[in-house]
Amino acid sequence: MLRLLKALILAVALLAHRWGHAVPWRGDVVYRARVSEKLAALTFDDGPHPEFTPAILDILERYGVRATFFMVGSSVELYPEIAKEVWERGHAIGNHTYTHPANLELLPDWAIRREVERSAEAIERATGERPVLFRPPRGRFGSKAAAVLSGAHQKVVLWTVSADHHEAKTPHEMAERVLRLIRPGAIVLLHDGSTPARWKDVVATSMLIEALRKRGYRLVTVPELLRSELKEMSSRRDDVQRGAGDPPSSSGRRSPGAKARRGITPGRSSARAAVSA
Ligand SMILES: [Zn+2]
Repeated sequence: MLRLLKALILAVALLAHRWGHAVPWRGDVVYRARVSEKLAALTFDDGPHPEFTPAILDILERYGVRATFFMVGSSVELYPEIAKEVWERGHAIGNHTYTHPANLELLPDWAIRREVERSAEAIERATGERPVLFRPPRGRFGSKAAAVLSGAHQKVVLWTVSADHHEAKTPHEMAERVLRLIRPGAIVLLHDGSTPARWKDVVATSMLIEALRKRGYRLVTVPELLRSELKEMSSRRDDVQRGAGDPPSSSGRRSPGAKARRGITPGRSSARAAVSA
């Protein structure tokens, strides 16, 4: 009986240990920003590419839109002048590893660290600034990679909706898919490198910008999106603090403070880290 009890306690302790490690890194990943304003961020992975990246830059310039590019370090070394141009035109740049491994989590710690470091160094050499945003290839990573990324001060940014999907075979379908799934604070995944099929992303980009604008969306970079989230969170906090000082209502109606409290969005250290880092 005592042995059974001990085994039970051990099992609970092991589960708690696993849980304790599993939860924090999941909560620290950015999939979208919690904003009420119609804001969205276009993101482009796998560049820089000598043909597609300049084509996308021209489209963004034409519409006056800023986006975020998650670059592969080895491609940055091949085309440093394109990476520099992306940066100089005011877009944000994130790290997308050095060699684009299929699953970061399957690599040993030292190799994950090398993927992150070599790419960050290549981007810093080309642009003068070290990236703080990181997107794992194919969005694949687990607690091991998360620990390495956190040690390297990289903020993991995934996406809300992908334009590149087996359901969406043409630029028109890609834009349609995004429009169907878009919501305020969304991060949209597109690509500007790795395969010749990226011409579809180029065409879909202008379709998307036009359609999103018609719907009242303003397109910003991921850091701008996270800053808006922080701003909204802090103004809600101010409302709550003001509400907390109100005298209790004798009529039994809810005070403005109580109203504000119902609207609280839990704070996320992730957004803060990305913006301040
Ligand atoms: Zn990729």
